[in-house]
Amino acid sequence: MKQLAEILKEKGLKVTPQRLAVYSALINTNTHPSAETIYQTLLNDNPSISLATVYKTLDSFKSAKLVKELNVCSEHSNYDADTSKHQHIVCTKCQRVFDIHCDNSNIDYNKIEEQSGFKIVDETITFYGLCSNCQKE
Ligand SMILES: [Zn+2]
Ligand SMILES: [Zn+2]
Repeated sequence: MKQLAEILKEKGLKVTPQRLAVYSALINTNTHPSAETIYQTLLNDNPSISLATVYKTLDSFKSAKLVKELNVCSEHSNYDADTSKHQHIVCTKCQRVFDIHCDNSNIDYNKIEEQSGFKIVDETITFYGLCSNCQKE
């Protein structure tokens, strides 16, 4: 695995301790945290970090296509350091977001383009339901 600082540099981002902290918080989890959650996680080791800095950092990561912003829940955005193609499943009760890798090769993109007159450039498929924990309650 490449050094995080290298990855930031490759994306044309200036390497700062805050950026490294935010990026490592994201790359080391698959829970798709919100900016608020990242901020809370970092606060212990980085008492000087502010929520505004976390938001600004996430914005620059987003522009550099280093992270993806998911708009899967109404209350906040979730962030994903895995920018490869995958789908998400969201628990409507605890709002947790999980990765799903499913085969969507049988979607007829030509037909969708024909119907809409669009040229498709991206897609997001999100499933909603109750996670196994929330089903137990
Ligand atoms: Zn749940
Ligand atoms: Zn994901």
